[in-house]
Amino acid sequence: MTLYLHVPFCKQACHYCDFHFSLNLNKKEEMVQAMLLEMEAWASRLKLDSLQSIYFGGGTPSLLGPQAIAVLLNRAKQLFALAPDPEISLEANPDDLIRHPPLRWKEIGINRFSIGVQSFNDKFLGKLNRSHNAEQAQNAIAFAAAAGFEKCSLDLMFGLPGQTLQDWKQDLEKAMSLPLNHLSIYGLTIEPKTVFHQKLRLGSLDLPADEEAADFFRTAHHTLQKAGFEHYEVSNYAKPGHRSRHNSHYWSGGNYLGIGPSAHSYLNGTRYHNPASNGRYMQSLQRGQLPAQMESLNQAEAWNEMLMTALRQKEGLTKEKVATLFGTDAWKMLQHQLLKFPPEWFLSYEPIALSCEGWLFMDRLLVALFRLT
Ligand code: SF4
Repeated sequence: MTLYLHVPFCKQACHYCDFHFSLNLNKKEEMVQAMLLEMEAWASRLKLDSLQSIYFGGGTPSLLGPQAIAVLLNRAKQLFALAPDPEISLEANPDDLIRHPPLRWKEIGINRFSIGVQSFNDKFLGKLNRSHNAEQAQNAIAFAAAAGFEKCSLDLMFGLPGQTLQDWKQDLEKAMSLPLNHLSIYGLTIEPKTVFHQKLRLGSLDLPADEEAADFFRTAHHTLQKAGFEHYEVSNYAKPGHRSRHNSHYWSGGNYLGIGPSAHSYLNGTRYHNPASNGRYMQSLQRGQLPAQMESLNQAEAWNEMLMTALRQKEGLTKEKVATLFGTDAWKMLQHQLLKFPPEWFLSYEPIALSCEGWLFMDRLLVALFRLT
């Protein structure tokens, strides 16, 4: 069992981001109170297993500062049992780690950072409208290492407007020179209602061509593997023993409780989601009602989800899992379909595990496999 807390505030809107967040920070305290109420309501309704991990995501949870995060964390520890040595992660923007030093976060119980760096080049950070510069990003990582954070990850993005392969190699080299044991690498996608979407429609976004973006992905794979990182999930790399426990649990279909606006939960076979609205979320809890809405997956949705979560992981999809959930004929049907795709997309057919090339074309593969139910 894991716990996710979505802190829905950001200092400024990055031009590519479609996550749920508000720039109005006036309601920070009210939101913390509402999140406490939601945790208490779940704890009184459900008998949950002990927590292996707690993850503060967002938005920008570091924006709340250590004091408010400690209030949420301490209440979670009172309400839910914790497994031995739990992973307690905080998504942090570099400027917040300068404002609130890593040692302070360590004191309140955070033991892993996921630092949103995105690029070490100020030109691209400006284009993305990030709230920090490259120097702050490097300092934040150095401060975290000096404070004894062994678990430290950073996010980098490729395929940025105007970015060349050379620019990307420089970002990877910089990351390799820093004390890190985990990296999340994302290709830029253009999401509706973002500034980049608007620019794309106006023809003013200079994006790399598809083949160039594919080379960015391959370059990351080869460079990081050479540096001792395992490519254990389509977007994630870790040194041995440093995979994200929280995310691995999620990809493996384990139970998780999500707290905060827009958060999702999966509890004993049932899914829930909270409204992506700070106002509706807080009002519901102030009225004494849980804001979560129940979701049920039909057969086709459950099939699609199994494929999406399993194929993104290095371990892939086992025959046993498919047979247990959908029968042995479903496994045979899958195997038959896979033969229509280039063999170099697969590390193995049993389990079905994708290679770097397979991950590159995973969307195309999934579209074909989704149709099977
Ligand atoms: S800081 Fe993170 S959540 Fe906030 S706008 Fe930027 S990318 Fe989105």
